[in-house]
Amino acid sequence: MQVVVLAGGVGASRFLAGLVSLIRPEQITAVVNVGDDFEQLGLQISPDLDTVLYTLGGLVHPDQGWGRADESSNALSAAAALGGPDWFFLGDKDIGLHLVRTNRLGAGERLSSITADFARRLGIGIRLLPSTDDPVTTMLETLGGTFDFQTYFVRRRHTDEVDAVRYEGAAEALPAEGVLDALATADLAIIAPSNPFLSIGPILAVPGIADALAERRGPTAAVTPIIGGRAVKGPADRLLRRFYGEASPVTVAEHYRDLITHMLIDSADQDELARLKAHGIRAQAVDTLMSDSAARARVARAVLELAER
Ligand code: GDP
Repeated sequence: MQVVVLAGGVGASRFLAGLVSLIRPEQITAVVNVGDDFEQLGLQISPDLDTVLYTLGGLVHPDQGWGRADESSNALSAAAALGGPDWFFLGDKDIGLHLVRTNRLGAGERLSSITADFARRLGIGIRLLPSTDDPVTTMLETLGGTFDFQTYFVRRRHTDEVDAVRYEGAAEALPAEGVLDALATADLAIIAPSNPFLSIGPILAVPGIADALAERRGPTAAVTPIIGGRAVKGPADRLLRRFYGEASPVTVAEHYRDLITHMLIDSADQDELARLKAHGIRAQAVDTLMSDSAARARVARAVLELAER
């Protein structure tokens, strides 16, 4: 069996960790968002790819869910003392990875090739693909102005009221090698518990990817990022209310209409099962909060079982 997972950062990485504990890593392809990628202090940073690398490589900061464990911040402190920006946290070890990536991108290597090499060096057996090797930047139009993702999310702490989300560069981007093939041939496709607009949206905006998902013959299952009307973290609930009037598994399913056949929702929302059924979606409710490794495995197992129904 082959499984392909569309992935954002922390929620997706925890889900992938659960999946890796159940099936062989060679059975898994992750297609990861690059709409958050940006440059800081000359470094090319790919936050979602790094979160997956650190999580599956066993290096991640366990409570935070992103960045590395046992991290120091000497370089960033020294940069700040000289007037450099320090609103985006960059640990010393993390900077080591960004230096190598930046160097190799500068020498003309593709992000997908660098990512595959990092995954191999960190002992990660899954196939880890950026959605595209081309630049895509998630832009948010808000009452306070138009911002790139990191400015909106980190610098302004996602407090601005969002009017529209755009994926700059997406229309000209090509899916990275292997992405369309994985979507077409995998026995199961999964949309991880990630922000539908800010993590999954920029993946689906790359021409060909949403079509490949829609044309699949096998099941495609989404894992809800919403529990009891709220996002576990971040602005997914506010964005769903803004664009669909309600934050619930049903509006997530509406957002993914024509793309998904199955949905794993939280036990807190089991009243929604009937509404999802009316939308033609086969759904099941379990506890989806991935607080520890047992919970991650439970959520991943529930998706694998649900997809067989
Ligand atoms: P990112 O790192 O910016 O991609 O953000 P996260 O992946 O941490 O969070 C994105 C979405 O995933 C949010 O809407 C969260 O509600 C959701 N999410 C994060 N962790 C979990 C979890 O343990 N369970 C569920 N069901 N959703 C989660």
